[in-house]
Amino acid sequence: MADTAIKVHVQDLHKSYGNTEVLKGLNLDVKNNEVVCMIGPSGSGKSTFLRCLTDLEVPSKGQIVINGYDLSDAKTNIDLVRENIGMVFQHFNLFPNMNVLQNITLAPIQLKKMTPAKAEKTARDLLDQVGLADKATALPTALSGGQQQRVAIARALAMHPKIMLFDEPTSALDPEMVGDVLDVMKQLARDGMTMIVVTHEMGFAKEVADRVVFMADGLIRESGAPKDIFEHPQNPRLQDFLNKVI
Ligand code: ADP
Ligand code: MG
Repeated sequence: MADTAIKVHVQDLHKSYGNTEVLKGLNLDVKNNEVVCMIGPSGSGKSTFLRCLTDLEVPSKGQIVINGYDLSDAKTNIDLVRENIGMVFQHFNLFPNMNVLQNITLAPIQLKKMTPAKAEKTARDLLDQVGLADKATALPTALSGGQQQRVAIARALAMHPKIMLFDEPTSALDPEMVGDVLDVMKQLARDGMTMIVVTHEMGFAKEVADRVVFMADGLIRESGAPKDIFEHPQNPRLQDFLNKVI
């Protein structure tokens, strides 16, 4: 088993769709408790990268090691690796016919064989943590987008993941909802969660990230401390990107 202080190890990751190569040799290590924010123009491969980490996409080439488990090793139990990764998407993908508690308890009961009573206790604690203790029996359609996204975060946390991946979690939200979701993520970061966050929220990246990674056209073009990335960008594409978004 590899060094478990490194939660995510990615080496020379390539991914092609047909003849189009969208990831062109990425290298990234994420340490325990580290928060990495990923920024970059649309189409640069950020979502594809996150999907490779959860084995939703199979790389064309390269190595991914998560929590010490090599995804390309036939002996690795991918389901177990996935249980340790929480993923939150732009579109919350809550189960529409289930109430908030049912959404959060489903996976712990089915996959972790948690008793319904224990799963509900955990779910209520998590709802408290995301500021939605009073919404336990609401259906997703009765919630605002920001509330639904906080339920999606609680649902991911209910599996006690070791790593949380976020793919533009606030991009689909009305502006007034964004702050509450970012506050939940900030608290998670303070509590020591290892996180990779694809985001257009530069304020969040500046404040919360240990490291900011800039992707363009299938490669990491620059990475560093938020201060360096935002105040002293070196790569012309990063300079251009920041001029457009800030
Ligand atoms: P980002 O998240 O940075 O906007 P994506 O990872 O979504 O970028 O996409 C990177 C590139 O890969 C884009 O050109 C996109 O059109 C292409 N792409 C993504 N998913 C697929 C797919 N399933 N089939 C073919 N092309 C895809
Ligand atoms: Mg994307």
